[in-house]
Amino acid sequence: MTTEITDALCPFCGCNCDDITVVVDNNRITGVKHACRVGTAKIMGHHRIETPMMRADKKSEFKKVSYDEAIEGAARMLAMSKRPLLYGWASALCEVHKKGILLAEEMGAIIDNTATVCHGPSTLAVHEKGLPSSTLGQIKNRADVVVFWGSNPVHAHPRHMGRYSVFTKGFFQEKGRRGRKVIVVDVRKTETASMADEFVQVQQGSDYLVISAMRAILSGHADVVPDSAGGVQKEQLVKLVDTLKGAKFCGIFFGMGLTQSISRYKNIDNAISLTTELNSFTKCVIMPMRGHYNVAGFGQVCSWETGFATAVDFARGAPYYNPGETAANDLLMRKETDAAMIIAGDAGAHFPADSVRHLAKIPVVQIDPYWNATTEVSNIVIPVAVCGIEVEGTAYRMDGVSLRYRKMIEPTLSTDVEVLERITERVKELRGV
Ligand code: SF4
Repeated sequence: MTTEITDALCPFCGCNCDDITVVVDNNRITGVKHACRVGTAKIMGHHRIETPMMRADKKSEFKKVSYDEAIEGAARMLAMSKRPLLYGWASALCEVHKKGILLAEEMGAIIDNTATVCHGPSTLAVHEKGLPSSTLGQIKNRADVVVFWGSNPVHAHPRHMGRYSVFTKGFFQEKGRRGRKVIVVDVRKTETASMADEFVQVQQGSDYLVISAMRAILSGHADVVPDSAGGVQKEQLVKLVDTLKGAKFCGIFFGMGLTQSISRYKNIDNAISLTTELNSFTKCVIMPMRGHYNVAGFGQVCSWETGFATAVDFARGAPYYNPGETAANDLLMRKETDAAMIIAGDAGAHFPADSVRHLAKIPVVQIDPYWNATTEVSNIVIPVAVCGIEVEGTAYRMDGVSLRYRKMIEPTLSTDVEVLERITERVKELRGV
């Protein structure tokens, strides 16, 4: 029997589009409407791991095993570890995060999420400065000036401009694109920059300098700004500041071009200060372009469970947090961790080479619906149902709005929650707790 699920949510990027129609035929997804190409590919399914697998060492071939064997192997591996790392979480629902934090606490492990290689610096900046932000709905209804700084939504968040920020019509923005001025600040002319009204090209690693020059101009000290700052002519910077000041409602979206370039969290700190100062002249908000659909959710769950958003070390018996010391790559680069569990994130594809080299040397268990680069450095692979498609639960959109995902089809594999619960119980038994 064919059914259509309407107003479904896409579990791929931080836009968390909630207008998707999914066609289901005999517990199989046969069609997806309204989603972008990447969202459609995720919902239709690809590269699924069909069965749990184990191998004695990383050079041998995987052998298919039962869930019981894989979970026993994973529990033993983690229980024997002196410095376990639990990493990933961004493509899983908040209910999974809760179970993961419990496991980390039981083992005295370090738990970290994919923000460590994307918006982790934003979290540090928010600690220092707060975040003058809004919902995406406010941007849609009010923003007449939109800035994308170090982000390329045409590729990374394909429906962002259409649904929330640029092309869509809003309550106070009836003209849609014609009523909005779009500015892109980046080191190269991206696809998003090609569609913008103004492109500001900064020199690689000079964002901090450019923001500082803008703040000086905004505060009436244009005289101290040289003819060119960070590769941008002073004339263009003055015009840019005038545009922002003259906006009725300005929305600044920033991406990894700002968080992962030189000065990292200080770039965000400076951009938040610029936003705050612009509020003396107009209404201005700033928002990180979160990548995975629930990377923001891990920050929420981890904060309310431990007091910290990410990179939490339970080795002392109480949560301890010090990025630079307790983040996943700090641990791997120091070759400190002796076992890792990678779940709902692909460390193998996104970590620096030295970190991946260390992962290739230590026991690794992967919990994921998909075969990816992390599979290649794993000893035990436990496939799970896809959160947001085969499992219901909660996720947080990039603007911090929580959304409830419904199940589209029945799962044929165990869920993350079931696997984590079983591993936790067995780890407790093995540790004699
Ligand atoms: S923009 Fe993001 S959330 Fe929306 S359909 Fe595409 S991948 Fe899914």
